[in-house]
Amino acid sequence: QDVVNKIAAGEIIVAPEHALKELIENAVDAGSTSLEVVIKEGGLKLLQITDNGHGIDKEDLAILCERFTTSKLKAFEDLSSIGTYGFRGEALASISHIAHLSVTTRTKESSCAWRAQYSDGKLVSPKPGQSAEPKPIAGRGGTQITVEDLFYNVPSRRRAFRSASEEYAKILDMVARYAVHCAGVSFTCKKHGSSTADISVPTAAGTLDRIRQIHKATVANELVTLNTENERWGFKCEGWISNANHSAKRTTLLLFINHRSVESSVIKKAIEQTYATFLPKGGRPFVYLNLEIEPARVDVNVHPTKREVHFLNEDEIIAIICDEIRNSLSKVDT
Ligand code: ADP
Ligand code: MG
Repeated sequence: QDVVNKIAAGEIIVAPEHALKELIENAVDAGSTSLEVVIKEGGLKLLQITDNGHGIDKEDLAILCERFTTSKLKAFEDLSSIGTYGFRGEALASISHIAHLSVTTRTKESSCAWRAQYSDGKLVSPKPGQSAEPKPIAGRGGTQITVEDLFYNVPSRRRAFRSASEEYAKILDMVARYAVHCAGVSFTCKKHGSSTADISVPTAAGTLDRIRQIHKATVANELVTLNTENERWGFKCEGWISNANHSAKRTTLLLFINHRSVESSVIKKAIEQTYATFLPKGGRPFVYLNLEIEPARVDVNVHPTKREVHFLNEDEIIAIICDEIRNSLSKVDT
């Protein structure tokens, strides 16, 4: 059974950035307005995220890392989105099977923080002979999740990572993505022991301000907004896209579908083609899109961490978005 769990976990969490993505989403879901990430050895040694969200009740800690433990199935719509995100309540469970996981958390109602450690889905004691029960400790409101020695028991996976700095770059990219999407949240990301953060952004007034905070070197005043909605295909799309004055070597596509960062090579290609007539010298655009699609229309068969996503009427929806991009671009004089 443990082997099965370990294999399943290794499929959900393929690289440190995937673990981090899940932890960021959890922190954001908990209503946090501040999110601090600390990384050691590209996330393989240590991946720690501290938020100021609503915290976890002490009573819920015992089953926190059991599969399918989730507090997010409140509304009926949520039931249809189980398919979308595949696997409600599997992130922490998975991580506990392939890493040493500890949680420190405090809710508003609690007079202290509680600390718990997990292995293979269950509470474990921090030292032999000690109780595995959560321990009261001093702490602020919110949650700190500490993931150590990721893939310690999956040597083949661990060996696949050549360079900590490459993994760290992917982690920074993931933090930067969510930072753009969550303008109202402050983010920091740094290496363990370092006094300077590699990402550090205060709460921003809006998405445009946040994009400037994060991407000021690449896009300055070259962004136009995009906003479209379509009842027939059941989607809404807003975003910020570079105009014809911006031309980079590589496309930056920050794509969120239903508030999850996803990849879509189909959308990327369509966007590049759309820009080709506006950036004749082969330059590439910067595009942030926040796409909301009725959950039932997002492909249920795609595994959430294979971030390539598909949805119903993809061609029609992409065509509308690209038309909108063309509209926005042709309105700007260059
Ligand atoms: P899911 O997010 O699909 O519910 P997870 O395994 O990611 O599943 O998390 C399990 C549960 O743990 C969540 O439903 C939530 O109740 C709780 N949780 C996890 N991280 C946090 C956090 N940072 N703050 C508050 N609650 C959290
Ligand atoms: Mg989650």
